[in-house]
Amino acid sequence: MRGALGGPRVLLRRLREVMAEPVSAQERLDKIVVLIAANMVAEVCSVYVLRVDETLELYATEGLNRQAVHQTVMRADEGLVGLVATEANPINLSDAQAHPAFSYRPETGEEAYHAFLGVPILRAGNTLGVLVVQNRARRTYSEEEVEALQTTSMVLAEMIASGELSTLARPGAEPAAHHAQRLKGVALAEGLALGHVVLHEPRVVITNIVADNVQKELKRLDAAIATVRADVDLMLERGDVADGGEHRDVLEAYRMFAYDRGWLHKLREAVMTGLTAEAGVERVQSDLRARMLRQTDPYIRDRMHDLDDLAHRLMRQLTGKDHAPSREQLPENAILVARSMGPAALLDYDRRRLRGLVLEEGGPTSHVSIVARALGIAAVGEIPNATGLVDSGDAIIVDGIMGEVHVRPPPDIESAYAERVRFRARRQAQYRALRDVPCATKDGVPVTLMLNAGLVVDLPHIAETGAAGIGLFRTELQFMVSPSFPRTNEQYTLYRAVLDAAEGRPVIFRTLDIGGDKVLPYMRAVEEENPALGWRAIRLGLDRPGLLRSQIRALCRAGGGRELKIMFPMVSTVDEFDQAKTIVERELTHLRRHGYPLPERVEVGTMLEVPSLLFQLDELLARVDFLSVGSNDLMQFLYAADRGNARVSDRFDPLSAPVLRVLKEIADKSRAHGRPVTLCGELASKPLGALALVALGYRSLSVTPSAFGPVKALLLELDTEKVTQLLCPLLEQPAGSVAIREKLSAFAAAESLPI
Ligand code: PEP
Ligand code: MG
Repeated sequence: MRGALGGPRVLLRRLREVMAEPVSAQERLDKIVVLIAANMVAEVCSVYVLRVDETLELYATEGLNRQAVHQTVMRADEGLVGLVATEANPINLSDAQAHPAFSYRPETGEEAYHAFLGVPILRAGNTLGVLVVQNRARRTYSEEEVEALQTTSMVLAEMIASGELSTLARPGAEPAAHHAQRLKGVALAEGLALGHVVLHEPRVVITNIVADNVQKELKRLDAAIATVRADVDLMLERGDVADGGEHRDVLEAYRMFAYDRGWLHKLREAVMTGLTAEAGVERVQSDLRARMLRQTDPYIRDRMHDLDDLAHRLMRQLTGKDHAPSREQLPENAILVARSMGPAALLDYDRRRLRGLVLEEGGPTSHVSIVARALGIAAVGEIPNATGLVDSGDAIIVDGIMGEVHVRPPPDIESAYAERVRFRARRQAQYRALRDVPCATKDGVPVTLMLNAGLVVDLPHIAETGAAGIGLFRTELQFMVSPSFPRTNEQYTLYRAVLDAAEGRPVIFRTLDIGGDKVLPYMRAVEEENPALGWRAIRLGLDRPGLLRSQIRALCRAGGGRELKIMFPMVSTVDEFDQAKTIVERELTHLRRHGYPLPERVEVGTMLEVPSLLFQLDELLARVDFLSVGSNDLMQFLYAADRGNARVSDRFDPLSAPVLRVLKEIADKSRAHGRPVTLCGELASKPLGALALVALGYRSLSVTPSAFGPVKALLLELDTEKVTQLLCPLLEQPAGSVAIREKLSAFAAAESLPI
């Protein structure tokens, strides 16, 4: 076939016939290797399949000893075949034996062959196996031959992915493709979910790989490229950067690639070997994905992602269908799998059928994670190549507690998880039964238990849980999930809806806490070396009073005729509080002058999350109407440990003397000044944390909705007097001399508290 393109095309057609023959999987493979060897004038053609145990097994050969089939098994990093598999790149050598990675298996009789060409069998960037041809003579295979062998390997990829070869495998040594996999990632939203994969951007499933008429396929490819180019040009011209959530620089990258000659040449070349236009795009895209997975430079990876997206658009254009799953018609128990996703996109899906989310990117502080938590769906992120490892409809389990995903789980794993899900459902039912029970400890101390919220989807939780109110309404969440700046009217509408849903129960609205890790997609981010310590929250609000003023106006209007509580984030000095309070007073005067109905009462308070406030507590408490301790940030600043950095965020225990002493002082001083204090950080959402807080004197806690049931169940069983007697003396001991967490756990166990 050398140099002649008729060769691979004829081969592809013959392979298509073999694929349709009603023969066994082994016979089919045996026929395939004979055909390839003959077509490529090679003395050897072998297929190695990657197994679940990460070894490569010889599944078929023409030319090597037949006895070695299913006997020769190599580590995935062994020899030249292993190198092809791990690098996911072709290796073309005129003298394989001179290569340092060459390793020789006597049972195969390989020593007679010098020339070697191995290509990875790839699907969506994943290596499924290796296809090799060998010749006795020392010769280098031509570019066309390498290309032809790669094209041929697509047929094998489909065969392996179809599961047909599993019948040939011994238990425990099945092909890795389509087999059970446990993937480790990062928990984004707590919960367990069993369901079936829905790809947020589904791969186009190609049913027709082999072209009947190559010229026709080339024309189809050219037409599709022209349309995609025109689309990208149009989007850029319109300046419609919000379209589909793309940013301008991503569109610019699309445009660059859409006109990139190298890429276009690769696509045409793939089609010229005899593939349909869409199969050609898939081949090039699969190579790209394989390289992307091995790329460590984040900038280059991002650009590769852009190119991957563009290939995806091209594929959609070629198949003429919009493959995005219907947002309203999700299957039951849908688990979304996506590379990344914006918060608004997640909110588009039908909440009632959505159970879980798996992302390749996205940390716990990402906006989509916040929405996932608000929706109460299990979510796991940072699973490399998640979208390439699953197919639509695959069974999948999302473990948002351990941060794990089980793809195509074996029956024992599935039933173990199903049991855990049933157990959790029973517990939820028990929590619901507590809804109307007044929240007081066993010895009759009332505790005001409230919810943290921030989105419309949070509002039903108030009625569901029977919470005493919203102790922290994070107004920035509306800003974070919006594609553009919410106008005063949109803010007003949300705040009214919140007050309506609360039905007279108190709601503490916190003014915008943006900056730091809370970035708005449409606001130019200011480059800062230490964003957590930077220009954020009330600092930004006071420097840009227009923004704060319009928010406060929306709040005051929404609170017309009712009680309104406004709280400021990240206050560091009493002076900042005074300035912010003045803005509220001015807005009230303004509204009064214009005849708006005013709130019946306005209370103004502050978050306590910056340690400097600890040294001006008396002055602060003399000014504020209430205080709310943000233990997340307070911990971060007390210990100088970034709350978003997993390496350090769990390094210091909040249930230790230094933090508990600080928290006690805040509670004592607030009581002395007659000012209500709530704790709204994550500490209150952990039953053991809530127990400690009650012991320190906190009588008001605001928790994340999923923690409401567990914390309330604990409080109802808790003896306040006993736990206070235990904890307070421990704080008098030298710091570090007592393991306070262990003591509290032991107390909970002895009292049979539900921790
Ligand atoms: C906190 O810092 O504890 C807090 C509740 O605020 P956020 O988590 O929104 O920063
Ligand atoms: Mg905070």
